[in-house]
Amino acid sequence: MGRSQASFYWSLFAGALILGLSVFGFVGLLGRPAVPWDALERATGVATGLLPQAIARADGFGVRDPDSDLGFIAARHRIGDPIEFVVVKDGRELAVTEPLVPFFGRRSTPIFFLLTGVFGFLIGFGVFIRRAEDRRARLFFWLCLAFSSAVMISGGWYGVQGRALHLVPGVLFFFAYTLTPVFLLKFVLTFTARDRLPGGPFLGIAALLFGGFFSVVVVASLLIPSIELFRLNAYFRVFRVFFGIMCFAATAILFRTFRAAPTRERRDQVRWVLYGMIVGLGPFVLFYTIPLVAGLRPPLSEETASAFFVFLPLAMAFAILKYKLLDINVIINRSVVYSLLTMVTVGVYLASIEGLKALFNAGPGTGRSWIPISAAFIAALAFAPARSRIQVLVDKAFFRTSYDYRRAVLGFTTAAGMARSAEDLLTLLSKTLDDALPVEKVGAFIPAPGVGAPGLSLRSGLDYDAVASLLAKPAGPEEPFPPAELRRLGFEFVLPLAFGDGEPSGRVFVGPKRSGLKLTDEDRELLRTLAAEMAASLHRIRLQEEVIYERASREKLEELGRLKTEFIASVSHELRTPLTSLQAISELLDSGKADETVLRKHLIGLMAGECSRLGRYLHNVLDFGRIEQDAMRYDIRPADLRSIVAGVVEVVRSAAADEDLDFEVKMPAEPVMVEADPDAVRQVLLNLVDNAIKYSAGRKHVAVRLAATAAGGAEISVSDRGIGILPEDRERILGAFYRTPEAVRHDPKGVGLGLKIVKHIMDAHGGEIGISGAPGRGTTITLKFPGRR
Ligand code: ADP
Repeated sequence: MGRSQASFYWSLFAGALILGLSVFGFVGLLGRPAVPWDALERATGVATGLLPQAIARADGFGVRDPDSDLGFIAARHRIGDPIEFVVVKDGRELAVTEPLVPFFGRRSTPIFFLLTGVFGFLIGFGVFIRRAEDRRARLFFWLCLAFSSAVMISGGWYGVQGRALHLVPGVLFFFAYTLTPVFLLKFVLTFTARDRLPGGPFLGIAALLFGGFFSVVVVASLLIPSIELFRLNAYFRVFRVFFGIMCFAATAILFRTFRAAPTRERRDQVRWVLYGMIVGLGPFVLFYTIPLVAGLRPPLSEETASAFFVFLPLAMAFAILKYKLLDINVIINRSVVYSLLTMVTVGVYLASIEGLKALFNAGPGTGRSWIPISAAFIAALAFAPARSRIQVLVDKAFFRTSYDYRRAVLGFTTAAGMARSAEDLLTLLSKTLDDALPVEKVGAFIPAPGVGAPGLSLRSGLDYDAVASLLAKPAGPEEPFPPAELRRLGFEFVLPLAFGDGEPSGRVFVGPKRSGLKLTDEDRELLRTLAAEMAASLHRIRLQEEVIYERASREKLEELGRLKTEFIASVSHELRTPLTSLQAISELLDSGKADETVLRKHLIGLMAGECSRLGRYLHNVLDFGRIEQDAMRYDIRPADLRSIVAGVVEVVRSAAADEDLDFEVKMPAEPVMVEADPDAVRQVLLNLVDNAIKYSAGRKHVAVRLAATAAGGAEISVSDRGIGILPEDRERILGAFYRTPEAVRHDPKGVGLGLKIVKHIMDAHGGEIGISGAPGRGTTITLKFPGRR
């Protein structure tokens, strides 16, 4: 037996013991004696109102504080015991002996205590047995035990009547009473985020001290016997202050929690606990405890004020049954409720017949046999409408009514009209169901338009395999999914989402109700209506999406057309400029005007530069075409990057011989071997150095560095101190035709193909491109070649 199981049985045992003792105490309470005021008035002629003060002695004990002292005397005797009372009248002492009378003239009040107590015990045990593993439920159990036992026993000495054994429930009463507000406060705090009692142990100890003190006082004073000791009970007033404060604190905390409750269910739960406290404890605290503490005469007697206690367990039971307080799911069957109701109705019916009979018999005339018959007739007439009214009330209280459903549908329709996406709609559906018809879970899938199953545009609450398994076994058109399969996945009901002609329809799956009840016809109707609304909204959303999609594809086509025109324009521009200068130079050479060797050499150098630029450009355009057609081929083999870099450096140096250029080169002395296509790498480097020069101004500074990496690969970086690149452009410049506005301003020549090709080549090498630097401060582009595989 595990520890928790042991403590479960111990708690049950303790609860049973407390219940037994409480019943024992209640039996004692029924025999509670009282001072025979009427008989004393008759015998002495002193008015009842003045009598308590007039009694000088009773049962041989001097009476100083009539309330407490007469209680002491009643605690030592039973109903019918003759007691000698010495009453002072007009300065003379009158001795009268009268028997004690029953305290409860009518039996009704103790029955209330019994009902309240038994009801409280029942709820406490019920909750504990169902949810013993939950700390809140255990707390609730102890609260119920303390409260019910205090109510049933009703007083520390009421049931004693001189019998030592009856002191035991008396002691239990004191502890139950004093601990009740502590448990109550602790329980109330479980509804808050705090969940711990401020100064918790202190309050508990205070309650135990109170309980211990009054127990000792009562037990000792009755056993000794000592009326002086018994008078210490006057300190009960201090406890009443404690009691009142704790009840107020609990109510205030609960009220704040109620206002801040995060969910509707939580709010309803708290509301009902609050009702129970206000109606159940309110009259006792307000009209009995507080006046007593203030030294006033309470407007309600202890018994009347306590009769309200019954509302506390009633409200708790309601909160549990209807709002699942403490997460308890009680399955209520409508027919059981109706049967109970019928029993109650019949009971009231019979009682009223009795009442009517008494009424008629009390009148003049002899008893006639037609009276009970006519009384029954009248009662039956009166009860027919009453019964249906009660049924409606029960329906409203325990079963969601069609009113709730209509409201839910209305709310859903309004919100669905504004939903933007299928996801929104599904969230809305879950929320609506959560409010109106709480179910365990909701699932849905909607096939993507134009794609056969299982292409899904939306899937929720179902995993992919679940959808596949559902779709794998289609059945008849009415119930398209095999029920066994549905149940395996935890669903109970399927709703088709049919939107529009020919389109594949989605499905909504609904799990069992959280209340454990079966789906009623009303529930199914609600679900169908919601599904139809949802399908309509989905249809609308899909149409909207189609319109958006069409517009997007049109825009894409337009963009392509624009790009084509731009490309042709820039290609012709790029070709014309070097051609024009080549033509001019060749004409100059031809004219013989440039005869000096130096000048001729310079012009020929210029021609070579323009030619290589043209060549590079055509290379790029051709490569781009190949890339687009996926026809670019590389010849990747072991190659020495050092010699490739050296070759490029030489070409650049000779081409830019007289540009205002600082060209810095750094590379290792030994070969750097990687797997590469040397021609492609050469083209990459030429493009990068070309850009570095193109996007720099004034005295240009370009650095090329080559280094082997630890992983067996290599890195080549090309740095400049030019216009730089914005971080957000780093990705885009690697695509085709993109040129930054800054680059266009700086140098209108260029089409934005170079880096696209660089990217393609580096990808083919399994390498990476790193771009760093900042606008206005230059750019470094690093090519990372992986190690040889
Ligand atoms: P192009 O140079 O013909 O425009 P690229 O593909 O070589 O085409 O470069 C794309 C864009 O990247 C350039 O237009 C420019 O905006 C940017 N870019 C490339 N290299 C540099 C650099 N070294 N400094 C600043 N911007 C650069």
